[in-house]
Amino acid sequence: MNPWYTDYSEYLSRIFPGVKVQKISVDAGRSCPNRDGTIGTGGCSYCDNRTFTPGYCRPSLPVAEQLALGKAFFSRKYPLMKYLAYFQSYTFTHRASASEMKRMLAEAAATDGVVGLVIGTRPDCFDASVASLLGKTAGSMPLFVEFGAESSFDATLRRVNRGHTWRDTVSAVALAADAGLHCGLHLIAGLPGETLGDALTTVDRAASLPIESVKLHQLQIIKGTPLWREWKEGTADIRIPELDEYLAFCAEAVRIVDRRVAIERFVSQAPAGMLEAPKWGLKNHEFTARLHRLLSEK
Ligand code: SF4
Repeated sequence: MNPWYTDYSEYLSRIFPGVKVQKISVDAGRSCPNRDGTIGTGGCSYCDNRTFTPGYCRPSLPVAEQLALGKAFFSRKYPLMKYLAYFQSYTFTHRASASEMKRMLAEAAATDGVVGLVIGTRPDCFDASVASLLGKTAGSMPLFVEFGAESSFDATLRRVNRGHTWRDTVSAVALAADAGLHCGLHLIAGLPGETLGDALTTVDRAASLPIESVKLHQLQIIKGTPLWREWKEGTADIRIPELDEYLAFCAEAVRIVDRRVAIERFVSQAPAGMLEAPKWGLKNHEFTARLHRLLSEK
């Protein structure tokens, strides 16, 4: 516990008292509506899903086998660890029938050591029927929904080919909260055409919604993505902040977000070989230590 904000482990310890909990990623073999032609193609311009899919995650394997591989990965270090099955890759609720979602969630919930379920999705792939289905599942164990909101500015969302609006985010969060789900938002700072001040506006708008957590990170330019090509051509309209500038931004975000909302993280770290910028050379825990130093000075 730190004196400035609720971090993710403190948040989880309130829901799972006395238990150390770790997310294990599961790939449900989905796509996204802005990739597969449902509303567009190409996906979000900054996205390469490989940057956040662990090596043990294989969509060709059944859910239980993916979880077994993930558990083997973590349990060597922490034998008493419990797990959250994290349907992270792409958009879990996109083009999935109710029976398929139920089957996958039930398979995960029945896995030994799994104490909660987490699904990653988009605000435009979440309606009342999905909320109701997940709400029923949440009766058996805690269920967390993480929405990729990224920005509260529709012009930015159009620019990076998200294919949804901020209004979609507000509606989806309301549905999830009404269904009794633990709800979190994913936000990116430094998107094309935005300043860090704009990102703080998004943090502020997000923190006023009925969410329990935010996951914040800097924009990363990943080699091979459409954004990387724009960056190379000089048309991306991005200014990569210096590390100190980004630290100051995070300190301000901490001031805005009250303790009701946990901050899961401040930075993301793509594999070095895939990352074009920024190259701050800090691991996540080193960044957090620097931020805490700055917060204590303030
Ligand atoms: S919705 Fe998520 S997974 Fe899909 S293209 Fe965008 S960032 Fe990537």
